[in-house]
Amino acid sequence: MLAGGTDLIPSMRQKLFEPQYVLDLRGISNLRGINPQADGGVEIGALTTIRTIERSDFLRQRYPVLTEAASTVASPVLRNMGTIGGNICLDTRCLWYNQSLTWRKGCGFCIKKDGDLCHVAPGGTKCWAAFSGDTPPALLCLNAEIEIASADGTRCIPLVDFYTGLGDNYRALQPHELVTRILLPASSAGYRGVYRKLRVRGSIDYPLAGVAVVMKRSNGHVADARVGITAVNPAPLLVKGATALLAGKAIDEAMAEAVGDLAARISKPLTTSALTPEYRREMIRVFTKRAILAAAAN
Ligand SMILES: Cc1cc2nc3c(=O)[nH]c(=O)nc-3n(C[C@H](O)[C@H](O)[C@H](O)COP(=O)(O)OP(=O)(O)OC[C@H]3O[C@@H](n4cnc5c(N)ncnc54)[C@H](O)[C@@H]3O)c2cc1C
Ligand code: SF4
Repeated sequence: MLAGGTDLIPSMRQKLFEPQYVLDLRGISNLRGINPQADGGVEIGALTTIRTIERSDFLRQRYPVLTEAASTVASPVLRNMGTIGGNICLDTRCLWYNQSLTWRKGCGFCIKKDGDLCHVAPGGTKCWAAFSGDTPPALLCLNAEIEIASADGTRCIPLVDFYTGLGDNYRALQPHELVTRILLPASSAGYRGVYRKLRVRGSIDYPLAGVAVVMKRSNGHVADARVGITAVNPAPLLVKGATALLAGKAIDEAMAEAVGDLAARISKPLTTSALTPEYRREMIRVFTKRAILAAAAN
C-alpha cells in the first residue's frame, strides 16, 4: 500500500519489497484531516500528512507532544508527502537490511529478507531491526487507538497492541488490512509534551534514539505522566513503571534521572544503526532526564 511513498518507494528500489501490485491510497480523501470530536478527543485520518499535523494549532494546543515529534520527521519535503499512517506502519530499519540487492546478496542476506541468519545477533533466530518512526512514541504516550479496516469491517485497537516487538514481522496488520484513523482520547488532551531525538544530521534523519514525555501537574506535583521511547528496539515502547514512579512527586534532578534509568533499562539497541548501541542507550537515559525536566519546567 502506498500512502506518501517516502519509505515504500526507496525500499522498492532496493528490492526490499517486490509486490505484484501496489495499492495507491492517495485518492481516498476521507482519510485525510484532523477532526475534533464532540467528546473532546480527535480523529486523525491516516492519510493526513506529517506537515499538516506539525502545523495544526488544534493539535499543538491539545496534544503538543505529537506536533513536536512530527516536526522532527525527516525534512520539510518528506513531511509534505509522508503521512501519519505511513509513520505508524513504517518498516523497521537495520544497516544490514536497508541496502541494495547487490549489497545484501554480497553478505548472504538475513532473516528479515531472503536469509536465515542475523548479522547483528548471530546464533539467534530473532530479527532486531529497529523501529524508527518519530510519532509513535508520542502517540503511545497519548493512549492512541488506531482504526483498522478491511473488507470484513473495521476494528479499533490500542496502538500499543499494534507492534509485535519482532524486527521482521513488526506490526499486527494483515495484508488485506488498512489503517484508516488514529483516535486520541479527550483524557490525554492538555498534557505538557516534549520530544527529544538523536540523529546524525539535524536536517534530515531517522531517529537513532527518541524519547516522548507527556505530563500533567497539580500543585507542583505530577498528577499523571507517561514516557515513550523509539529507535532502540524493534517496537516503540511505553516505559513501564515511569507513570507509577512519577505519580504525586515533585520533579527534581534525582527524580528525572531515576526515570532516565528506567527508560535506559528497557532500551535494547544493537548494531542496527549508525551510532553504537552503548551511545544510543545512554542518550535514551539523558534525553529522558532532559525531557522530564523540560515537561516540568514552569
Ligand atoms: C531520507 C529519509 C529520512 C527519513 N527520516 C525520517 C524520520 O526522521 N523520522 C521518521 O519517522 N521517518 C522518517 N522517514 C520515513 C518516512 O518519510 C516517514 O516515516 C513517513 O511518515 C512515512 O509515511 P508515508 O506516507 O510516506 O509512508 P509510505 O512510504 O507510503 O508507507 C510506509 C509503509 O507503511 C505502509 N502504509 C502506509 N500507509 C498505510 C495505511 N494507511 N495502512 C496500512 N499500511 C500503510 C506502506 O505499505 C509501507 O509499508 C524518512 C525517509 C527518508 C527517505
Ligand atoms: S537485525 Fe539481523 S535479521 Fe534483522 S535486518 Fe538486521 S541483520 Fe537482518
